[in-house]
Amino acid sequence: MAYNYDDQNIFAKILRGEIPNNTVLETEHSLAFRDIAPQAPDHVLVIPKGAYVCFDHFALEASDAEIVDFTRAVGEVAKQLGVQPGESGAGYRLLSNAGDDGVQEVPHLHVHLVAGRPLGRMIQPAR
Ligand code: AMP
Repeated sequence: MAYNYDDQNIFAKILRGEIPNNTVLETEHSLAFRDIAPQAPDHVLVIPKGAYVCFDHFALEASDAEIVDFTRAVGEVAKQLGVQPGESGAGYRLLSNAGDDGVQEVPHLHVHLVAGRPLGRMIQPAR
């Protein structure tokens, strides 16, 4: 399968510094920033710096270094927010939308880390 990456997507523009973001963490291969329309008190997006459309694209074509960096960045964000379960934090949810049925709006891989309130059931009925 060929993945067509649109380099005019809004996260590509954030990575190029063309539009601002509220950065939480930056690593060699990843960037984490606050969602502009938060669904909970803490809502952070973690993205790889590389041009990957969605999670399966990343899993297929990213280097081991990028995958390790991205995974550790997600964990570090949870740590920085103080939401790791079992510690003082109350937990969080990770979510990555892909494609049409996933209702992916921005075609650059991102994981949502949502926390700060009870989050309810994982999937709401479609409306
Ligand atoms: P998704 O449906 O998973 O593609 O969600 C894309 C997310 O990106 C949404 O939660 C938006 O609120 C968020 N978003 C869109 N533009 C920006 C931006 N400029 N800065 C931060 N978050 C954004």
